[in-house]
Amino acid sequence: MSSEKPRKTATQLVTGGRKKEFTGPVVNVPVWRASTHLYDDVASLEAGKKTNSDGRFFYGRRGSPTQWGLADALTGMEPGAVGTMLYPSGVAAISCALLSVLRPGDVLLMTDNAYDPSRSFADGFLKRFGIETRYFDPLITDYDSVFCERTRAILLEAPGSLTFEVQDVPAICGEAKKRGVVTLLDNTWATPYFFTALDKGVDMTILAATKYIVGHSDVMLGSVTTHEKYWTRLRQTAQQLGQVVSPDDAYLASRGLRTLAVRMKAHEVSALKIARWLQTRSEVETVLHPALPECPGHAIWARDFTGSSGLFSFVLKGSKAKAAAFVDALDLFGIGYSWGGFESLALPVHPETCRSEVPWDTGRNIIRLQIGLEDSDDLIADLESAFGQTTGLD
Ligand SMILES: *Cc1c(COP(=O)(O)O)cnc(C)c1O
Repeated sequence: MSSEKPRKTATQLVTGGRKKEFTGPVVNVPVWRASTHLYDDVASLEAGKKTNSDGRFFYGRRGSPTQWGLADALTGMEPGAVGTMLYPSGVAAISCALLSVLRPGDVLLMTDNAYDPSRSFADGFLKRFGIETRYFDPLITDYDSVFCERTRAILLEAPGSLTFEVQDVPAICGEAKKRGVVTLLDNTWATPYFFTALDKGVDMTILAATKYIVGHSDVMLGSVTTHEKYWTRLRQTAQQLGQVVSPDDAYLASRGLRTLAVRMKAHEVSALKIARWLQTRSEVETVLHPALPECPGHAIWARDFTGSSGLFSFVLKGSKAKAAAFVDALDLFGIGYSWGGFESLALPVHPETCRSEVPWDTGRNIIRLQIGLEDSDDLIADLESAFGQTTGLD
């Protein structure tokens, strides 16, 4: 099985984590349900391992081969990574990653287009523990104005999941490194399939695996992958906070991972076709999709990413009521939170409520689309019909 040549990502997605001692004679790592792990004798219990294992068997809170197989596969997707911790949601992954590096008195920098619950964690929980959060323009170029002596960590998200500005992750990480600041990236939109983070300078890369990794809208899961320097504290923090993922959920996520490459390519092609079609519509003010030149940070996306996923937004001309009526008029697009599954979703979103540095004009109404794996012609027909049904409104 071993080969000196680094394997391509699609191959790693298929082979990752499928160690013989995890799978037994079957292809996928099965669901190992366990709280208690049994030892052969007291001597091996005291030695902290089961005699016939690689030393990881201990107790259910530390997982079992089902979770280890998934974690190993995610680690394998990030060159330079040494390990991955799993969490019961993406939000738990973000919170635990931040808690593993921050101390009272620190300043956390957070991109102004960050996922709203990341802001809530910072403005609520972290504030109570004496950690101050300062927000910055995602398209920052003047670094001296944001870093200070107390800056300890910086949370990035590229692109932001409502307005899609793409940050210059390598440049920001370079500036952070010069100042001894830890960098964390929410990489949920691209996944390591389209953006490997650690080799761009990121210290900890975070996924809401709920989205594309799981890919089927039926499991909540998060992950953090890191290199040698932060691995021990990441692992210890997760263990001290009692973070553990159900083996059934880990199993479903491993299943999702096997098809990530084909799904991502399909999301990409279909989303781009629909985004370009939306650009031709007179009802649309602008389309916010990182692969389109009009998206802020497009040149950075083109330089750093190997592709684009299925989530983007557009600004619909007219009132909030019109935006709501447009979404209601859609038939194939479900109305609901989350994304990354096989099915399409549409949602009016309100960035003006979760920003402080770069305000978003309340009069500009955004509709966010998650393009699923349906036929793109059917999705376009659905959008066209919704435009038709809402023509009279303003
Ligand atoms: C959904 C999401 C999360 C949180 O993931 P959950 O599993 O829902 O907790 C974090 N970041 C981004 C960008 C997301 O879209």
